[in-house]
Amino acid sequence: MNLEVTANEDEVRDNVIQIIGPDIDETPEGSSFPIGMEFKIWGSEIQPDYDEFFMRAMCDNLEGMEGLMGVNTRHTWWMRVAKRVADRFTLRKMCQAVIALTKSAYPIAEKMEARIIVGAPEVGGPELIQQILEEEIKPKWDLSDSRRLGIEDDDVDNFFSCTLCQGFAPNHVCILTPERMPFCGIISYKGAQIAMEIDPHGYIDELPKGEPISKASGQYQAINEYMYEKTNRTIKRLNLYSTIKYPMTS
Ligand code: SF4
Repeated sequence: MNLEVTANEDEVRDNVIQIIGPDIDETPEGSSFPIGMEFKIWGSEIQPDYDEFFMRAMCDNLEGMEGLMGVNTRHTWWMRVAKRVADRFTLRKMCQAVIALTKSAYPIAEKMEARIIVGAPEVGGPELIQQILEEEIKPKWDLSDSRRLGIEDDDVDNFFSCTLCQGFAPNHVCILTPERMPFCGIISYKGAQIAMEIDPHGYIDELPKGEPISKASGQYQAINEYMYEKTNRTIKRLNLYSTIKYPMTS
């Protein structure tokens, strides 16, 4: 699964959905196929490094659809469609919903286009998807990743927190630093900065890190105080760089 932000408006054909291979209503019950999905997005205020934010928004939209189980991102994306919705669920409708939900939640998304390849034998099977992945998609991921690398924790005055998972884990908080990705892997430090710009009242908070209690273990007074409040007064200390002593809640 890929989401690409394009700088050139002409590269996105608004609301165009291209399905290569059979849709859900054209396959027998119980079928299983490799799948490739790509969404392109353009907006006059959208920067290239907004891709991570919109990828997350897109996954949220997919995961919230009735009868659809979607897990992971990028090359580990996996989804299943429940039998009870199979008679009214198609990939085309799914893309229409993702585009409509994204545009209505984030009006800076002015144009969106979708392409889905279902790797059935008649369109080239898994080899077609693998070829597109290697030749087209992975170079885009390398470029996108390179924009997020190269910053160290000492270079910044603020960290960020994420509380998205409190929907099902009420005492859970992640602290995001340039060198410390959360285990879920869905949001980087740079991505958190952008999320704050786009959605300042969302699930990301900006945290001035203040003076360290221990720089080696990555413990900060201000972060401890924030954790205590945000974990419903259950976690008093956090060592950013330890998985054994006062580790992150995840
Ligand atoms: S694991 Fe942490 S960073 Fe990832 S979504 Fe949950 S709270 Fe946010």
